Amino acid sequence: MHSKVVIIGSGPAGLTAALYAARANLEPLVVRGLQPGGLITTTSEVENYPGFVEGIGGFELAENMEKQAARFGTQFLDTLVTQIDAGTRPFVLHTDSGEQLTADAIIVATGASPRKLGVPGEEPLANRGVSYCATCDGFFFREKTVVVVGGGNSALDEGLFLTRYVKELVMIHRRDALRADPVLQERAFSNPKVRFIWNSTVEAILGDEKVTGVRVKNLQTGATTELATDGVFPYVGHVPNTALFAGLLTLDANGYIVTDERQRTNVAGIFAAGDVVDHIYRQAITAAGEGCKAAMEVTWYLATQEHAAKQAAAALG
Ligand code: NAP
Repeated sequence: MHSKVVIIGSGPAGLTAALYAARANLEPLVVRGLQPGGLITTTSEVENYPGFVEGIGGFELAENMEKQAARFGTQFLDTLVTQIDAGTRPFVLHTDSGEQLTADAIIVATGASPRKLGVPGEEPLANRGVSYCATCDGFFFREKTVVVVGGGNSALDEGLFLTRYVKELVMIHRRDALRADPVLQERAFSNPKVRFIWNSTVEAILGDEKVTGVRVKNLQTGATTELATDGVFPYVGHVPNTALFAGLLTLDANGYIVTDERQRTNVAGIFAAGDVVDHIYRQAITAAGEGCKAAMEVTWYLATQEHAAKQAAAALG
């Protein structure tokens, strides 16, 4: 299957790239990946995406973006890209469904995944009380006690969403000040269901069949205590999904793809956009902006390639 441009990833960056590429008649193919719609689909309420006065659910926002891209002819494929051959043109993309795709240009928009706490109990108790998606799993914690770890926007946003269901929400943060936006901090501090444990980390998640508690370490005193809880939601940042590109694209020390200001990677014809590149802003709107830039760059890149090929052909007579 050949495409002028294959977009790997279907979050706000990938879908905006698809919208622009489709409107430029490039008939893009979006490889949806593991999480169709991207990480934003796990965000309960997006209140800072311009144009939605009352906010919009993350899932709905991604769904709208996909429909908009599809309206202009974007094709979608539910598979994972497992390998890219960049030594020849067109590029060859191998997938886990066995399909082989070829593309004249590629936009990488594989996003990021939630960072794990990396403590005992986290992996065996995943989906048994440990969850990285409040929107997906909050309902299962009605009238329960739940721990959220972290002090950023995700921790507060998703923690506040959980208060719709839970009896008590305990927020455990490693410092005594939150990183989250002031508007979220004010909401959390004034919510009677929310209790903070400061200067502390979760050392272990406890339980056999399901989560029953956490072991908490106070970083100032060194003291450890056990806290009974039914659920743990780690929101301690994200790691870029770039394992596939190691050895092909230049990555920075934290694994993010390095691009120039025009979303170009070190390989001509491969562009990257969104959370897989951006370790500073990491917003849906900035990801969408980079997706737009990447698609416009692809349009110009392909036009230049086509022009050069025509000139070469003319020179040959
Ligand atoms: P983040 O802003 O990087 O915050 C991660 C939090 O986890 C920080 O409070 C950090 O503590 C803490 N942390 C990191 N590693 C830890 C560890 N090993 N143990 C305990 N705590 C740890 O990540 P995020 O909240 O996922 O947000 C990512 C990006 O998405 C941000 O740019 C954010 O603005 C954006 N976002 C926006 C919205 C929104 O605008 N509605 C919603 C969600 C996310 P320190 O504070 O001490 O570093």
